[in-house]
Amino acid sequence: MNPKTMLEAHGLEPRKSLGQNFLHDPNVLEKIVASADLTPGTTVLEIGAGTGALTDVLARHAGRVLALEVDERLEPILRDRLGIYDNVQLEFADVLQTDVATLMGDQPYVVVANVPYYITSAILRHLLEAPNRPRRLVMTVQLEVAERIIARPGDMSLLAVSVQYYTRPKIVMRLNPAVFYPRPDVTSAVIRLDAHSEPPVQVPDEASLFAVVRAGFSQKRKQLKNTLAAGLRLSNDEAVALLDRAEIDPRRRAETLSLEEWAAITRAHVGG
Ligand code: SAM
Repeated sequence: MNPKTMLEAHGLEPRKSLGQNFLHDPNVLEKIVASADLTPGTTVLEIGAGTGALTDVLARHAGRVLALEVDERLEPILRDRLGIYDNVQLEFADVLQTDVATLMGDQPYVVVANVPYYITSAILRHLLEAPNRPRRLVMTVQLEVAERIIARPGDMSLLAVSVQYYTRPKIVMRLNPAVFYPRPDVTSAVIRLDAHSEPPVQVPDEASLFAVVRAGFSQKRKQLKNTLAAGLRLSNDEAVALLDRAEIDPRRRAETLSLEEWAAITRAHVGG
């Protein structure tokens, strides 16, 4: 049954405020799950189960599925649809208020999710900064966000640097708005993020790296010597000296730097 019919049968309307655009194309659902390379031993955390369309396919391919959904109105639909599976656990909670370390424990897990677009970055940060971050994430996001995530030096952003520090991102496919009910106003894409087994660059500690990167991106279109001076509370001369030690031209702008160059500034700033 498609999501529209299911919602109508329960007297429900999709809630725009919760980013409720439900996937209804069976081929797309199968392709998303196939791109996650699940095995019967994989534990999956799904965020935003909705009417359970993706959960249903996940249950047939994964060992265990823990599905989070914030909208309790959907509980009867989800229980009806997923009651036949003994490997699905439903939790009604806001992912951003959920302690992932407690929820998933020490076990390795993969995230598969069609998340509300307005909290994509917050969800990524929440999951990637958790002590037990997922091994892999397959997420449906706005195409424009997917392109920002896979950006190369020249078009980098705080989001791209953070996601690429933790994972290797790639776009799996684009999704036409017609595969959702209701249709979103934007084109979507499925991205796959594979967690690095070792950090891709050497820094004394992650917090210092992100303090430097945040400072670098704190003012749009300004030169690094100015953004770092403001963000790291340095004088202009100190910021220029820092960039000299890292062998980076102080006139460059944050979006042109590679991850390795951010790491070089961090090492020059805090030693290591
Ligand atoms: N997975 C379903 C699908 O593919 O059809 C639903 C996708 S819909 C884009 C996003 C879902 O996330 C909605 O069901 C919404 O209620 C839920 N959601 C929104 N904010 C959430 C949050 N903070 N935590 C958990 N779920 C949330």
